Amino acid sequence: MNAVMEEHAISDRQQRIIHQTETFGAHNYGPLPVVLARGEGCWLEDVDGRRYLDCLAAYSAVNQGHRHPRVMRAVAEQCERLTLTSRAFHNDRLGPFLEKLCQVAGMEVALPMNTGAEAVETAVKLARKWGYERKGVARGKAEVICCDRNFHGRTIMGVSLSSDDHYHHDFGPVAPGFVHIPFADIDALEAAITEHTVAVLIEPIQGEGGIVVPPDGYVRAVRELCDRHGILMIDDEIQTGLGRTGDLFCHHHEAGTEPDIMTVGKALGGGVYPVSAALASHDIMSVFQPGDHGSTFGGNPLACAVGEAALDVIVEEDLTANSRAMGERLMAGLKAIDSDRIVEVRGRGLLVGIEIDQAAGPARPFCEALMHRGVLCKETREQVLRLAPPLVIDADQIDWLLDQLRAVL
Ligand SMILES: *Cc1c(COP(=O)(O)O)cnc(C)c1O
Repeated sequence: MNAVMEEHAISDRQQRIIHQTETFGAHNYGPLPVVLARGEGCWLEDVDGRRYLDCLAAYSAVNQGHRHPRVMRAVAEQCERLTLTSRAFHNDRLGPFLEKLCQVAGMEVALPMNTGAEAVETAVKLARKWGYERKGVARGKAEVICCDRNFHGRTIMGVSLSSDDHYHHDFGPVAPGFVHIPFADIDALEAAITEHTVAVLIEPIQGEGGIVVPPDGYVRAVRELCDRHGILMIDDEIQTGLGRTGDLFCHHHEAGTEPDIMTVGKALGGGVYPVSAALASHDIMSVFQPGDHGSTFGGNPLACAVGEAALDVIVEEDLTANSRAMGERLMAGLKAIDSDRIVEVRGRGLLVGIEIDQAAGPARPFCEALMHRGVLCKETREQVLRLAPPLVIDADQIDWLLDQLRAVL
């Protein structure tokens, strides 16, 4: 045990549960040694009753806070009626959900899926078919341009999109048709466009990549290049969307950057249930014919009820404005911390990264120290401590969080 861990011993009860999990589960995560049993709003509680401020929000899937009453009510009511029918039939929740989603997202049509990885998969399939049918790209040759250090999910396609050796290593052969360029490099993007290019896929802020914020004007420059070359802009808003960055969608930070295809997930499930979607115009989406794509669980009545409530909470409680205000408060507090352990503080809204100096070691021990002070967060990449609490966080909680961060940093 290192010095940080000695601050409080893990109880026998937690140790037993961790041991059981490690014995019967695959070791594909490296979780902090805490066993959670309850949650409400911004707070989590472990099996021994210790409380923690949740500063990860399930990688931004709990923007509405844990067990938001409105989302819980939607779940309970829908469970009393109908939960799964498949898309072989219509159900009475799908239409209202899709209409609301399109209206909130400012897009014409949506294709519902479950996880984020599936939404991105949907977007890439759509772009390829569009490329063959509308742009006349030679069959089997379509190229999608993507950015170094991106994250679009963990499937073989997600791995193929990734530039990261760690994600590739041992999982090849990867799928062809993806071209990598440095993130936020417009010249590299223009140079990578060929007659086979059908789309460019971006995250408007790279989340898993270490909260990398591109320079102002980047998304607009991507949009302009896509227009000029007749290719699609795919905007992955799975982590940055639904209020996280202080705008409803991150691309709203720059006017005139409406994507051709947008993916949404994570917080669309209201912290309950996986709900995702790929959105596009009628014109683009019309290349999909019955049988081209689908999902057994996609668009099921329970998912639609959850998704509708999740959107209502974000919009009606104006969590986007709170994200902006609380994000500014957090950022101002962080910038005022004078510590040679901090290389940089960056982010937007309540998606904030603190880059820890290599000389101070990796970010993980800082996460462990914060855990002992009642703050749960997780590093992304070795050196970046990510802060992404539920968007319902208030000023007192931000100030308390800053106290804990000051003590640890
Ligand atoms: C989390 C994430 C995904 C993948 O979502 P899953 O639900 O884990 O499959 C895709 N893109 C981005 C930008 C993400 O942050």
